[in-house]
Amino acid sequence: MGGFILTIDGPAGSGKSTTAERLSAKLGLTYLDTGAMYRAVALAVLERNIDPENEEAVSAVASSLNLEMRTVNGKPSLFIDGRNVDAEIRTPGVSRFVSPVSRYEGVRKEMVRLQRRIGERGGIVAEGRDTGTVVFPQANVRVFLVADMEARVSRRREQLRSMGIEQDASEIRENIRSRDEMDSSRIESPLLKPAGALVVDTSHLTIEAQVDLIEAEVIREVGRMESLAVSKGERNPFAAMSGYYGISRWLVRAFFRVVFGLRVFGSEHLRCRENYIFASNHCSYSDPLVVGCALDREVWFLAKKELFRNRAFASLIRIYHAIPVDREEMERSTMKRILALLGAGRSILMFPEGTRSRTEELRDLKPGLGFTALKSGVAIVPVYVSGTSRLLHCLSRRRRLSVRIGPPIRVGVDCAAGDRRDAYRVLTGMVRSAIGMLKDETEN
Ligand code: C5P
Repeated sequence: MGGFILTIDGPAGSGKSTTAERLSAKLGLTYLDTGAMYRAVALAVLERNIDPENEEAVSAVASSLNLEMRTVNGKPSLFIDGRNVDAEIRTPGVSRFVSPVSRYEGVRKEMVRLQRRIGERGGIVAEGRDTGTVVFPQANVRVFLVADMEARVSRRREQLRSMGIEQDASEIRENIRSRDEMDSSRIESPLLKPAGALVVDTSHLTIEAQVDLIEAEVIREVGRMESLAVSKGERNPFAAMSGYYGISRWLVRAFFRVVFGLRVFGSEHLRCRENYIFASNHCSYSDPLVVGCALDREVWFLAKKELFRNRAFASLIRIYHAIPVDREEMERSTMKRILALLGAGRSILMFPEGTRSRTEELRDLKPGLGFTALKSGVAIVPVYVSGTSRLLHCLSRRRRLSVRIGPPIRVGVDCAAGDRRDAYRVLTGMVRSAIGMLKDETEN
């Protein structure tokens, strides 16, 4: 279970903490309670008499806080400046403050950075509101817990009681309702069901039953990962290349390595018996070449229609599998072709920002990416390319030319009716977070 990541998200009182705690013990994973971290920020804001409406001051508290997770008597505990705050962060006062405080971008950035550092090597169960969508979009199993209001109120009441705090059911209900509303409607990382999540309604389930259900899913996924893995020295049929493509790729790669110092990170994530949709950021016309040569396989890539105006150039890029697309709206025939290629086990390279971003600032991604993945069931591999917008600087080694490949985001085929558009958008947002993670790794 070394690098395994399990995320459990859901609204207040849906049973996340108990489930996560038991699963972490059963599976030998570290338990990461992200809600506790936001509660710690709220506690510090309260104690320092800071106005929770003052975004700047609250964000400053979040970045100055010395937060630490330690294990005390076999249980995870949270410390601020060496002081154990497990009890204090659960008081009704903190519960009232926590949602307003955790809606700020500065607070979230800081907490997500800490959470990712804790989960760097995997082996964790993370629990919260955005752990499967933003913090660990590459999680192996994502769970979304839901429960009806009455079940949630009575659970929270029991939890408070066990800590010696007596609170009225109506007050708890009101707190849960207002937190639900704030957590779901905020702009920064709202509470959302991650794409490909296992949804569990815990209203009428015992804790043992929900733990068993999720454990079974984890075991299934571990088995699937084992069956996909290609061992060292073994040939990966999905990475096969035709002769001319293989030679061209080798030449292009050697050229970028020798002349511009190209370095490639994360190729080990591709050692699986499956095809991929590679989703890369885009800052220069050379990206398809640089990213294409960094990948271990033959890829078909989407290129804007305008590039096919010159016939000689069009013929050349067609040989290397360029598929013309309309940047504004993908035509049905193009989508059909892409789905057919994916269905035949081919891999696709997309630049879902739609257009180049010269500043290397990540733009929003087009939801067509989510659509393609959820229709085909093919995993998305996030890619971050850096340096192509400043090739001359790379030539003189003032900048580094690099391609960083992230772990695949596997979501399967989405069969749920109704909220499909939302699912495409959520998945596209998850990929953006994953590319953002690679960008941070590249820059730090
Ligand atoms: O899970 P718990 O109820 O302890 O979370 C407290 C609050 O922290 C939530 O209501 C939410 O406002 C915030 N939170 C968050 N993102 C997370 C976890 C918690 O915004 N990943």
